[in-house]
Amino acid sequence: MARYCVVGAGLSGAVVARALGEAGHAVLVVDERTRIGGNCATERDAATGIMAHLYGPHIFHTSDEAVWRYVQRFCTMMPYAHRVQAVARGRVYSLPINLLTINQFFHTTMSPSQARAFIQERAVNNLSPRNFQEQAHAMIGKELYEAFFEGYTRKQWGLEPVDLPASVLKRLPLRFDYDDSYFAHRYQGMPKDGYTPFIAAILDAPNVELRRETTFESLSESFEHVLYSGPIDRFFDFRLGRLNYRTLDFEKFHSPGDFQGTAVMNYCDAGVPFTRITEHKHFAPWEKQNFENTICYREYSRDCRPTDIPYYPIRQAKEQRLLQDYISLARETRGVSFIGRLGTYRYLDMDVTIGEALSAAGVVLECIAGGAAP
Ligand code: FAD
Ligand code: UDP
Repeated sequence: MARYCVVGAGLSGAVVARALGEAGHAVLVVDERTRIGGNCATERDAATGIMAHLYGPHIFHTSDEAVWRYVQRFCTMMPYAHRVQAVARGRVYSLPINLLTINQFFHTTMSPSQARAFIQERAVNNLSPRNFQEQAHAMIGKELYEAFFEGYTRKQWGLEPVDLPASVLKRLPLRFDYDDSYFAHRYQGMPKDGYTPFIAAILDAPNVELRRETTFESLSESFEHVLYSGPIDRFFDFRLGRLNYRTLDFEKFHSPGDFQGTAVMNYCDAGVPFTRITEHKHFAPWEKQNFENTICYREYSRDCRPTDIPYYPIRQAKEQRLLQDYISLARETRGVSFIGRLGTYRYLDMDVTIGEALSAAGVVLECIAGGAAP
């Protein structure tokens, strides 16, 4: 009988389960979904054969050598360089904001140094921006902020940009050259056969048993330790209240040929109800010529109701306080550790998810070896 239970067969659960299983410990992994892979899950579209990213597109990017080596044990990573275009005020621009965006937007032909000076002149002098809007004003000035960020951010978060932390914008670079790569990491790629077989290969480990369509709450067995990658508030039956998320609605449509000529087109204007359209054959450039037709998803963001899939943690002051209360409760609760994006209520890229899951498994294994309760 399994001594350890891992809740969730997403990336966090798979990585932790494998580490414990490889170390010789019997592990039961449960996931309430039919498919494994959590929110990274992919599946070929029945009508076209195109690889669809079922919970929104996922691009693997990292500068962490150990994580990059780890993923390559379980899949073939194909070359992929992520680029994003954006429609604003009826024109198409390149994102993140780079020299092409600046020159097109202001109808100029500036060099890198001229553009830098030009943006500095427009930027609002503020050494400690307190929110998203102040951060944007300080970084790029009001014109670019209003065209590319104000409307999109309201749609994405359902909040005023002044009510969002500055850190949300800091994820995006500002470039004074023509580099339009969305990510600045050393490695980028897409698993050749999608994320679900990649995560299945991680789970295919000695001493690991997988039960799908099974909630943790429905189990009657007891375990020495539980590693829980579900929502931390759900584990405690929401007894202190619910941590808020944004959820996404995906409106799928088929189209002949090539719909938009690129993987991601953002729609920055407030009047357009969706945030972006993603066209999934462009996420697999090595095979996209095989498909005559195409599939796309319009993406709408809204507040998450209890029955919806949680996507983006909101993490405003109210949620931060509630999270701290749940963390205190978790510290007082023996026999369980919380992992992953839902267990820790944070936005985590996949490489960070893997790195943190490996560390969490390392801590549990050290405790077991030392005879202490994890
Ligand atoms: P999840 O994938 O959410 O897995 C949790 C699993 O636990 C689920 O399968 C769920 O069914 C199961 N579960 C939960 N509670 C229970 C329970 N009580 N009983 C049984 N099962 C349960 N990262 C990138 O690096 N690049 C990207 O391009 C990227 N794009 C993203 C796009 C979107 C829209 C979002 C929201 C995230 C994106 N990410 C991206 C982040 C990526 O999705 C996460 O890093 C990853 O999903 C984290 O895996 P996880 O296992 O922690 O959580
Ligand atoms: N953003 C925007 N317009 C865009 C792209 C991004 O306003 O065209 C804002 C938005 O608030 C988003 C943040 O910048 O949440 C960070 O961008 P990122 O691409 O990291 O978005 P996410 O992963 O949150 O979808």
